Amino acid sequence: MTSTANPPITSPAGGSRSGVTVTPGRLFLGGEWVDGGDRRRPVIDPATGAEVTTVAEAGAEDVDRAVAAARRAFDSGVWSRLPARERGRVLIRAANLLRERSEEFARLESLDTGKPLVFSRVIDVSTAAEMLEYYGSLAGSVEGSVRSTGAPMMAYTRREPLGVVAAITPFNFPLVLSVSKIAPALAAGNALVHKPSEETPLTALRMADVLAEAGVPAGIFSVLTGGSEAGQALAAGRRVDKIAFTGSTAVGRKIAAAAGENLQHATVELGGKSANLIFADADIEAAVGTAINGFVYNTGQFCMAGSRVLVERPVYDQVVEAIAAASAHVPVGDPFDEGTVIGPMTGPRHLEKVRSFLRRAQEGGARVLGAGAAEPEAVTAGGYFTRPTVLADVAQDSPFVQEEIFGPVLTVQPFDSEDEAIRLANDTPYGLAAGLQTRDVTRAHRVAAALQAGLVWVNGWGVLDVAMPIGGYKASGYGRECGPEGLDEYLQTKSVLISL
Ligand code: NAD
Repeated sequence: MTSTANPPITSPAGGSRSGVTVTPGRLFLGGEWVDGGDRRRPVIDPATGAEVTTVAEAGAEDVDRAVAAARRAFDSGVWSRLPARERGRVLIRAANLLRERSEEFARLESLDTGKPLVFSRVIDVSTAAEMLEYYGSLAGSVEGSVRSTGAPMMAYTRREPLGVVAAITPFNFPLVLSVSKIAPALAAGNALVHKPSEETPLTALRMADVLAEAGVPAGIFSVLTGGSEAGQALAAGRRVDKIAFTGSTAVGRKIAAAAGENLQHATVELGGKSANLIFADADIEAAVGTAINGFVYNTGQFCMAGSRVLVERPVYDQVVEAIAAASAHVPVGDPFDEGTVIGPMTGPRHLEKVRSFLRRAQEGGARVLGAGAAEPEAVTAGGYFTRPTVLADVAQDSPFVQEEIFGPVLTVQPFDSEDEAIRLANDTPYGLAAGLQTRDVTRAHRVAAALQAGLVWVNGWGVLDVAMPIGGYKASGYGRECGPEGLDEYLQTKSVLISL
């Protein structure tokens, strides 16, 4: 069956379409670009399936070199003993450089991930620059305190960096998730070895130039491109003092286990299956718009996607129909076309995962609605496209409700009472985000308190701010990014007691 909602994309492949020049990626180790041996990995444009370039595939030896350089740079005090406000100024310079190059970074991000250029500009690059500014400003405010004690002593605390940090990040928000670790880790005075996702490494590599130009000393920041081999080497055997990981719950468990074995600091920001509760008293039109945005944004490849909608029974049929009808018309297409809202999935493994869930839904007799019901594969031309799909009346214990699909697939279920809504919302292994749509302020506070999630939206979905911490409950992990809490994760406290 052919869909008429969107024409297939026909743009030429690779860098010329994106307007940026992409050169083969090398490793950034100890302040220098190095080749990184013969092992190379292709970087694919998900809108066309064409190879854009290749990057070096780091192995355990590269990890050793990067960590050794980071350790030397950290121990030298060239960064950790710099006045904190000076470190902050370097980060603010990096923010300014990033803003100057925002178009280049946005185009690179869209080429690498498939996200629409408009979102890369106004969300990804802009958020990354704000994070650098925010933690640059906060750096000088890190301070200990003088304590009164029961004996004649001068007693105070010092807040100190942890040492060498490994930052391992996923494919879906490459620049933002790199900088969400770079900014607080460097503000606190640590050295950082960063391994971005093997699928989307391009902006992390370019950040190395920005940071070096801003004044981050050699060795304090390194980038290793590569996959699980490099990630495992970073996490093994207490090479580093902290692992800052964002990614799947499956890999997060391994990271947390290794960190436990090695008694390392770790933050693990993991998967989600977030519920959006629509009460009958809500502004229904606005709630429908919020629900659609919640599951199609970033082609559903959003850890905080509102991938489950729970609707109060009296408005259930109306809301299901409205979401299915409107989501079928959200423009799917080339990330570089103005007007595209849904780009391709970032890679074939993600597309195949979505397709396999949709096959199971169709075989299992689920009520499948939306454009995906007619043509799950949709726009082709070599790209990894899929369309929004709504699965109505699904059972709470079904895999569609319990598992993270990580694509534009929404489950919708009815509820009859506030208690039932809260029970259903909390009844998955995850607890990353949640939301409710209601005009009742008292209910908003009551339900927000009852939801087991690290972040709750009322009358909206997806708004984030660098001042507000994000992080998981339950299998969505532990640790917080953003806000002052995000800086605390990169500091440790020393008590000094001086006998008088
Ligand atoms: P992933 O877990 O497959 O990979 C994440 C990173 O870990 C990659 O850099 C990968 O190379 C590396 N890695 C893989 N195996 C490893 C191992 N054994 N040891 C060390 N490193 C290893 O995740 P993904 O598919 O890239 O990203 C999608 C997942 O990330 C989703 O589950 C999503 O919810 C989650 N996510 C969470 C947040 C959050 O803030 N909680 C944000 C974005 C994405």
